Amino acid sequence: MLVPMDLYSLVQRKGYLSPEMAIGWKIGTYVEECFDDLSEVGVAAVSDDDATLALLHLIQRHGYPGQIVVPESARPWDFLFYHLTTGTQLSFTLIKKRIELPQEIRELEPELCAHNHEELERYQASLDFLVKSILREPVTSFSFIRQTRCRRLQTQNEEEQLVHCHHCGSLIPLGKAWDLEGDICCLSCAGLEPVWGIYH
Ligand SMILES: [Zn+2]
Repeated sequence: MLVPMDLYSLVQRKGYLSPEMAIGWKIGTYVEECFDDLSEVGVAAVSDDDATLALLHLIQRHGYPGQIVVPESARPWDFLFYHLTTGTQLSFTLIKKRIELPQEIRELEPELCAHNHEELERYQASLDFLVKSILREPVTSFSFIRQTRCRRLQTQNEEEQLVHCHHCGSLIPLGKAWDLEGDICCLSCAGLEPVWGIYH
């Protein structure tokens, strides 16, 4: 299998290439192209798995310290990127049936062992096929991408005036309000991770 050079060094280090690693790498390189690089990008992922590992590998490759937020509560996406310079948010939701092994192959998992050559080979071939298709196909073949714009509300008002969040109605200081596609809202309704609020 032809593995991209950047990903290859991670595969060498870990000793395997999983579908999650391929997913993280594909999404990371897609985002890197959108924003030119990953230095000014906040990254969050719902699970701390091989995909997160591949993302971290991409970020750190250029010497950035790299930090990926893994929230403790549920989120409406699998990966979220926030470009600090432009206020662009890109969220990715994985399409489960495109990133999973077929049912009959998954059923082999409990039986897999070194003595069971035929099944092991079938399983490996299916896994290779899945990884290859993730690497070859565009990101949109296995995930939904959503783009929104959100920036700190620009205000001349020095006083701590309160405003209502357009989405949840909570009262927030004007100086802490966000502009989400033209709506005034709180950090949480803007869809940002709390730690990113301090960057602005
Ligand atoms: Zn709100």
